[in-house]
Order: sequence, then C-alpha cells, then structure tokens
Amino acid sequence: MKLEIINTGTELLSGSVLNTHQQFLCKRLYELGFEVTRQISIPDTADEIKSAISDSLKRADVIITTGGLGPTSDDRTRDAIAELIGKKLVFDEQVALNIKEYFKKRNRSEPQSAKIQAYIPEGAIALQNQYGTAPGLVIEVDVERNEFKKTAKSLLILLPGPPRELYPMFDKQVIPLLKDRFQNLTFFCKILRTTGIPESILEETIKEPIKPFEEQGLIVGYCARIGEVDLRLEARVKDAERIVTEAESVVRKLIGDFIYAEGDTTLEAVIVDILKKKGKRVAVAESCTGGCVSHRITNVPGASDVFWGAVISYSNDAKMRVIGVSENSLKSYGAVSEQVAKEMAEGLRKLSKSDYAISLTGIAGPSGGSEQKPVGTVFIGLCSSSGTVVKKYFNPYDRETFKRVASQQALEMLRRALIS
Ligand code: ATP
Ligand code: MG
Repeated sequence: MKLEIINTGTELLSGSVLNTHQQFLCKRLYELGFEVTRQISIPDTADEIKSAISDSLKRADVIITTGGLGPTSDDRTRDAIAELIGKKLVFDEQVALNIKEYFKKRNRSEPQSAKIQAYIPEGAIALQNQYGTAPGLVIEVDVERNEFKKTAKSLLILLPGPPRELYPMFDKQVIPLLKDRFQNLTFFCKILRTTGIPESILEETIKEPIKPFEEQGLIVGYCARIGEVDLRLEARVKDAERIVTEAESVVRKLIGDFIYAEGDTTLEAVIVDILKKKGKRVAVAESCTGGCVSHRITNVPGASDVFWGAVISYSNDAKMRVIGVSENSLKSYGAVSEQVAKEMAEGLRKLSKSDYAISLTGIAGPSGGSEQKPVGTVFIGLCSSSGTVVKKYFNPYDRETFKRVASQQALEMLRRALIS
C-alpha cells in the first residue's frame, strides 16, 4: 500500500509557515501501520497541484492533500483536482446547509463567497468540518498504472489547511475510513529510547545478533538526537509482533542499561516518575547549564512533588555564598573542577535537605578553555545518602548543544542511581 502526502501552500515554501501537517499526518499514519512513501510541499497554483496529483496517481493507493479548500481566490485545490480528473463541480445541499449552520451558530451572516465551498467534484464524499466551512473531500479515482497494464483505484483525500480544522477531521473521519478500507494491515513497532551510547556503537553491537530477525522481516531504524538515539524495531509481515518482541529481548540483553524508555517518553519524565514512586526529592546546582536541567524537570507535569528547586550558581560568588563552595577550592582547583562539582552537590544537598543533589560545572565556550580543561569540559556531581560521585565529560559543541548534552548526562546519572 502506497500513501503519499501533498501539502499545498506557497507560505510553506517561503518559510513563513512551518509544515506541521506533515509531521502530524505522518505520525498518526505511522502509528496506525500505514507507510507514507512520499511527501511533498508545493505552491498553491493550479498547475503545480495538477502536476503533483497526476504524478502521485501513477504510484499511490492513497493521496492526502492539505490546504487550499477555502473560499478565497488563492484556494485552488478543489477546482484543480476536479479539472484534472475530469469531474464537474456539483452543488451539494448538505454541505450548503452545514455552511449555513456554521454561520448561524456564530451569529454571523453568511458571506457570498462561502457558497463556493458547497460545489464539490461529482461523486465525492464530503467530510464535515466542525470548525470551519470548507468540507474535506474523498474521491475515488480510476487510474491506469502502466506497470500493471490495468486500472487501479486511488483514493484522494482533500483536507483543509487550518490545523484546528484538519486535526479533528483527520482523527474522527479519515482514520475510520482508512481502517475500514485497509483492514488487513499487519504492523508492529517498538521504539526504544537510549542515551549514553553513540549511534555507531549501538548499531555495531546489535547488528549481527538481530540479523536472523531481519531475515524474517524486521526493519531496524536509528534516529539520533542531541544526547540520545532512538532505536526503532518494526515489522510489517505476518507474525510482526512476535518478531519485534523477540528482537527486542535480544537488544535489551545487549544494551539494556542504555535504554531509558519506550515510545516518546522523555528522560525527565522517567526520572520524575521514579522519584515519585520512591518518594524522593532532587535539587540541582547548575553553573554552565544555566537552568537547562531544571527546565527539563519542570516540563514534566507533577514535578513539584519531587523537585526541590535549583540554584543557578553561575558566578563564584553564588557558588560560595549560596551553596557553600570554599574559596580555597575555587582558587586551587578552579570553578570547573571535580572538587568544586563535589562541593556544589554536597552543599546543595545540605541546603535543600533533598535526597539527591546534582551539580554541573563546565566550560561551554567558545572562549575560556585551556590545555588541561578545553572548551566542552564538564564535571557533573551527584550527592545522595550513599555518598558523592563526580564524573567528567567532554562535550565540545556549540553552547546550546553543550547545555542539552550536559543536562542529558546529569539526568542519566540520576536515573542510573535511582534504579541501581
Ligand atoms: P481557509 O478556509 O482558512 O482558507 P484552506 O483549506 O484554504 O483554509 P489554506 O488557506 O491553505 O487552507 O491554509 C490556511 C492556514 O492554515 C494557513 O494560513 C496556515 O497558517 C495553515 N496551514 C496550511 N497548511 C499548513 C501546513 N502544512 N502546516 C501548518 N499550517 C498550515
Ligand atoms: Mg485558504
């Protein structure tokens, strides 16, 4: 089954609007087991729309378009497609009634231009738009595909551009329609989120052991983000669930320590969850990360149960006066040192009376590095009832990446301490 998405809108190609429909639709379709085989963005001119659709019709069983269904002169999708497939636009009583109702409900008089939207290609099914006036449209098209030398059917699904109209229409009306039409999709997928293991090492470690599963239909994907790599295990064959589950257990035996979650759960959400279950609290002393660790923890709903707070001890003065780092240590070892990270974590744990205190001190750059402590050096401390550990990392990236990676390392240190 081939499914293609065509996002129309000149604003998408000028960079003024981010194409979030693409992500929304791909994510939903993927979760349902549909494979999006192609996605393009095109300007909303009739020529481009016709050319893109006729190109897609050569391949795709389902084509989803977004945008250009409204009543203004720049909304050309409906007309262009009707012309391409040789269908007349016919007046649809029910759609006209829905449009009338839409304005009545809002105490507004119906503009003359709104009626245009009640003209739909002959034979099309209209999808009701609860949050706007342009209906979505579903049209079945007979196409001749040269490779098979016989006619096939493609389903054209036209959706409105505004996100608040498109999202509910897709979820409530398009998904049931697709599920009904393609009933025997076999698909199973597992996403394992890892941190602390580079993509290449991850692949090297699991490559050979999972080969037998790949021979049975397993598809493996890697998605690297800052400080983490997602491993995607999926299958689209009979027995998909068994194949993925067995491959997962092999993977877990090899790299289980690096896997912190499944699906789209974040590392900070995992930590808040464990802390809650254990009834423990954490506090953070951040220097070089300037609040990044705290920001991530507080992004999780319910963080107040487990997060004491943070001291952004950026200056030496703050390190000394607020969390009690000794002037002597700062002078003898420097602010970016194992000793200062240790004193920061210990001082903060005392101050906050938390179960865990994390500290971070490092050199984000671009200046401030030396031969012994180059830009990218960071010391991360963790103090708990079982003592204090300090680890040294080297993250020679731009400032924002440096912060993100360091925050990831700190959160991962805490996660490992919590589960050990
Ligand atoms: P309307 O009736 O509002 O004219 P329409 O179906 O004609 O709806 P468009 O005019 O193409 O849709 O888009 C309406 C608005 O929706 C755009 O101004 C844009 O902000 C948003 N939009 C359109 N396409 C996308 C997209 N791919 N990603 C994110 N936003 C989009
Ligand atoms: Mg429009």
